[in-house]
Formats: sequence, C-alpha cells, structure tokens
Amino acid sequence: MATLRWGAATHEGQLRTQNEDHHFAEGGLFVVADGMGGHLAGEVASEMAVARLDSRLPNAATSTRDDLVSAINEANVEIYNASVENPDQAGMGTTITAVAVIDDPHDGEVFAVANVGDSRSYVLRHNRLRQVTIDHSFVQELVAEGAITRDEARTHPRRNIVTRALGIEPFVRVDSWTMPIVRGDRFVLCSDGLVDEVPDSIIEGILLEHPGDPDGAAQALVDAANAAGGRDNITVVVVDVLDGQDPPDITEEFDVVPAWSEVDLENTAETQIVSDPGDADGDAADPATIPTLPPAAGAPGAPGAAASGTKGAKRAGKQAARAAQRADRKRRRAGRASRLGRALLLLGFAAVLVLGFAILAAWARSGYYVGFDDEDRVAIFQGRREGVLWFGPTLEAPSAFTREQLDAQSVELVEQEVGFGSQADAADFIGSSLQTTTTTTTTTTTTTTTPATTIPVTTAAPATIAEG
Ligand code: MG
Repeated sequence: MATLRWGAATHEGQLRTQNEDHHFAEGGLFVVADGMGGHLAGEVASEMAVARLDSRLPNAATSTRDDLVSAINEANVEIYNASVENPDQAGMGTTITAVAVIDDPHDGEVFAVANVGDSRSYVLRHNRLRQVTIDHSFVQELVAEGAITRDEARTHPRRNIVTRALGIEPFVRVDSWTMPIVRGDRFVLCSDGLVDEVPDSIIEGILLEHPGDPDGAAQALVDAANAAGGRDNITVVVVDVLDGQDPPDITEEFDVVPAWSEVDLENTAETQIVSDPGDADGDAADPATIPTLPPAAGAPGAPGAAASGTKGAKRAGKQAARAAQRADRKRRRAGRASRLGRALLLLGFAAVLVLGFAILAAWARSGYYVGFDDEDRVAIFQGRREGVLWFGPTLEAPSAFTREQLDAQSVELVEQEVGFGSQADAADFIGSSLQTTTTTTTTTTTTTTTPATTIPVTTAAPATIAEG
C-alpha cells in the first residue's frame, strides 16, 4: 500500500451557519462532498455520499476504478431515492470528488480520481498546481467556450450553478481517471468554498509554504478562504505521497482526459451535443455537396472548310486557301473561347450555387432559441424555428427542466421561442428568466449577489441544479 500522509480542515465560512460539506480521509480513500438543498438536506446528501464510499470501499487498495465509480453511482441512487421518498429532502444533492488508492488490472497500485459537480481534485507536482478534475458547472462551460476566463469564473454571478450532481437524476455520469502513485505528489481535494475565494496561484503558494505538513496546509487554505470572504462552506483535504515511483520529467504533462465509466456509455451521445461553433456551415463546405461540373462540351461541329485551291487559279486558290486557313484558325479560336466561356460559365454557376448553398446553410443555422423539445424539456435549439428547406433547427442543449416544473409565466416565455445570437445568451436567459414552481435552490441569507434561482442548462448529463 502506498505510503501517504494526509490532513484535512473544514469550516462553515463567514456567512453560513451550517456546514453542508463532508469529507473523509482514511486509509487510501479521500473524499470531499459539498451538499445542496434546503432544510439541511444538503448536509444529509453529502454525508450519505461520503458514507457510501467509505462502506463500499473498505479496503481501497483491493478495489478498482470501476468500484469507485460504482460506489459513486450507488450514492447517487441512494440520495435520489431519499429525496423522492422524503419531502423534506426533495431536490437535495451533492457534488463529490474522490481520490483512492486502487488496484488496476494493468498497472497495479495507482490512484483513481473521480468527480461529479464542482468539487475539485488538484495535484501539486514539481511545485506546480494542476487541476485534475473538470468542473461540471455552468461557468466551466463558459470557460471551455472561451466566453470567460478561469479567473472571471471565480467571481461570475452564476458560479454556483452545477450541471451535474449526485441525487438529482436516477443516473449520473461520473468522470474518472487513474494516475500513477508518484513520490512527492501532493493531492488537494476541496469544495468550491475554497476555489471561489482563493485563486489557484495563491493555493499553490500556500501549499508550498507547508511542505511535509498536510494538516497545516489544509488549515492554511481554509483560513485563506475565510480571510477572502468565506461566502461558502470550505473543506480541504491534502494528501502527500511519501513513497512511490520517481516523478516524471518536469516537462511531462499529465493526462487529464477522463475515462468515462462504462455504465454511462449509453449517455455518451447526449453529452457529445456540446456545441461546436465551427460546424455552423460545415454542411456547405462538405465536398460531397459541391456540385460537379458536367463533362466538357464536345468539339465544335464545323469541320475545316479550307478550299484547297481550284483549277487554273493557283494564286486565287492560294489566297483562298490562306483565307480559309485564317477563317479556320479563327473558328477554332472561337471554338476554344466558346468552350472556355461555357466552362467558365458553368464554373461560375456552380460557384454561385455553392456560395448560395453556404449562405443559405449559414443563415438557416444562425441564431439560437429557447423552446420545448419533444419531451417537453426546456432546451436550446440552433437554427431557424420554422426550418429552411432541409435545414431544421437542432437541439443543442437540453436542460433538466420540464414544462410541468415551470410556473405559468415561464411556460409562456418558453413558448414564445425567444431568439438569441449565441448559445451562451440563450443559456443565460434560461438561467435568469425562468422560474420553477418547485424551487430547486436555496439562496444565501445575505443581500449579496446570489441569484434567486435557476434553471441551468447543461450540455452534459441532464442533472442540473444550483448550489445553495
Ligand atoms: Mg460549496
């Protein structure tokens, strides 16, 4: 078993009276969960998640990455069922991030890292902090689209909206990775109460100020978040790898592409709806759709009509012959020009067709609107509502919310199929203008900027909710 040393710290922060985060650090299993939901349900959800992982992976070193992912899936079902059965806990959920020493069938003892939501796992290696997990959050999607920077995400008014969480839907997609156990690595697991207050560069500096003291490092990070405002619960687990393989060369990056869990493969297609700004007029550019020119026209009909001279009139004949040759050359030139002209004309015609097709396609695919999809979910569509020729609007991003969940005014708004210039604007509209009749969010008790609520849009799994 890998030789590890770890420490943890948690605090309710400066504004909250309850701490809805839970964490676990023991043996080879490290977990941070950040609960959400009213009436202390968030605390219940995060505790259930942590307890499920603890009981499901009693001996992490003999478990596999699949076991870790399964445990998180089981926690999801458990929380979901509890929230359905218990009205007090309706809508509760939790994010989770976990790091576990596991037994990989190929590589032996390695770390498995997994996450759902915006609780994060980082690794400090070669004095450099790298985020391993990818947040499932509205602002992360904006960052991925290049709409905002990572730093802007930290203070974005909608930073509390997560696009995946445990307990919201019966199925959830878990991102997971395996990483070698590398001597000198330091893992940091944390809730968003840390990262929304403290930039990564400062987190890195604090970690470097506490070498060999994971407890001190965790406490210092919690203190820094509180000093910066402490608007949310803060939880930090720090794990130092004391023994393991040699660190790779400093120039080597780690692979941060998640291995999707097998149970979620059936949902992969939906997740790949992620909009690609580059494909708006891809159809038009597809060579298969560019009309081909018809074969060149055949030779001109008139055969050479050169008179070859006449009896008794050599001179006149020669002159006539030369004239005929000139005429012939002229006809042939004219013929060539005519063929060239026809070809150019056809080419021009084809170009106009292609250009027209491209313009039509671009126009037909331009713009977004918010409407109901076939399953009566609120969704973002790309293209013209009414469709143009064979270009119908396409479903770009379903949200988790259905017509039934919206209040009457919001239903009316969605039925108007309001148009937007960008998908981000449409998502913003859903997040800011629509209201559910059953609230899925809680707001802070302060008068600060937390938005009242909210129907986030996801391009990933259907679960979406706002953190409290
Ligand atoms: Mg939080």
